[in-house]
Amino acid sequence: MNILVLNVGSATLKFQVVVTDAERIATDRDERLIRGQIERIGGESIITIRGADGASRRHTAPLRDLRAAVEWLVGFVSSDESGTGLTSRGELHAVGHRVVHGGERFRRSVAIDSGVLHGIEETIELAPLHNPHNLRGIEAARAALGSGVPQVAVFDTAFHHTLPEHAFLYAIPYPLYRRHKVRRYGFHGTSHRSIAHRWRTLTARDRADVRIVTLHLGNGCSACAIRGGESIDTSMGFTPLEGLVMGTRSGDIDAALLDYIAAKEGLTLPQVEALLNNQSGLLGISGLTNDMRDLLAEAHENQDRRATLAIEIFCYRARKYVGAYLAALGGADAIVFAGGIGENSPEIRRRICDGLQWAGVHVDETANDALVDGKEGRFSTEASSLAAWVVPTDEELLIARDTFRVISGIEPT
Ligand code: ADP
Repeated sequence: MNILVLNVGSATLKFQVVVTDAERIATDRDERLIRGQIERIGGESIITIRGADGASRRHTAPLRDLRAAVEWLVGFVSSDESGTGLTSRGELHAVGHRVVHGGERFRRSVAIDSGVLHGIEETIELAPLHNPHNLRGIEAARAALGSGVPQVAVFDTAFHHTLPEHAFLYAIPYPLYRRHKVRRYGFHGTSHRSIAHRWRTLTARDRADVRIVTLHLGNGCSACAIRGGESIDTSMGFTPLEGLVMGTRSGDIDAALLDYIAAKEGLTLPQVEALLNNQSGLLGISGLTNDMRDLLAEAHENQDRRATLAIEIFCYRARKYVGAYLAALGGADAIVFAGGIGENSPEIRRRICDGLQWAGVHVDETANDALVDGKEGRFSTEASSLAAWVVPTDEELLIARDTFRVISGIEPT
């Protein structure tokens, strides 16, 4: 089955076409025909395409809105020029959408019908920045492919539906949860699930034997405590702002700061929230950039004090969360790193693990240094009682597989 995977953001559309079915899932032989992204939708859009051979190409096209972008995309991927081998739109058999927020209602991936659309709409107040784009993506795909092509929603929150009450409730008046659904939802769920699934494949374990801490360290960052293959705690909360230090997000802060910063800086509360989401984290501390590569270069080549500090705070917070989750899990078998930083920076991995020797992690420097550019493997020494791994995340593959499974009525494993 050829599945178009769509991940719609505010002005960007990321896409892949994945060939999958039960046999390919069982043997890990899914195939990627094409992947890429369309940026600057609404103007002269830039389209970056990577074919199955890995070669990258760039196109530009005036795409006035998301509908035009999806229409262009569907036409392109089913054309000769794309190199996918597809010859008509009819060969796109289904669409899988990343949907950020599923609230308490969506606990797994679902086929999209009018009831599901309504449910995603109802969740807009919980995710005003994300769910409206996801809904527009669903409408655009239906317009481009027709209502006969099944569409499936895969929610970023769904993997965390197993959080127990003591992990998802904030210690604030309980009626706020009942009345307004104020609770921790957690995000990056598709990523943590993808990492956990791949790790148990690599280590030949059953789902029930997975007891790990996963660290998704990209521009957004989150940690997840996984026991019996299920998420029992995660660092993002009501929104993706809570938890680890991220590229531009503060992660955990004292809530009393909102009012204090607003008063001192003459800002409204929404402006302070925007400051915590967009001007904080690595960017806020360093005053330079949210890009970890550039911060490492500044710290090493120019001994920039604030770049050094930003990296230190980033690693310290991540290490604290690992410690907390080892306690939440009652011990674990591995810490698993993923995301742009987790998959590519041996230095950051080493600095997070440094200070966790008490927990049994000892870094094998050679193995650690070798794990970059999408490689997967273990980088702790044989003698470590707590292993450290890099397992690149593959959310799109999981979305494609879930799409196939939902349509075919097969339970995910
Ligand atoms: P997103 O969360 O937007 O998907 P990514 O997972 O692509 O982001 O991660 C982006 C982050 O990964 C950036 O901070 C980038 O600097 C960092 N990164 C990528 N390659 C490296 C590297 N070689 N060393 C350190 N950081 C890296």
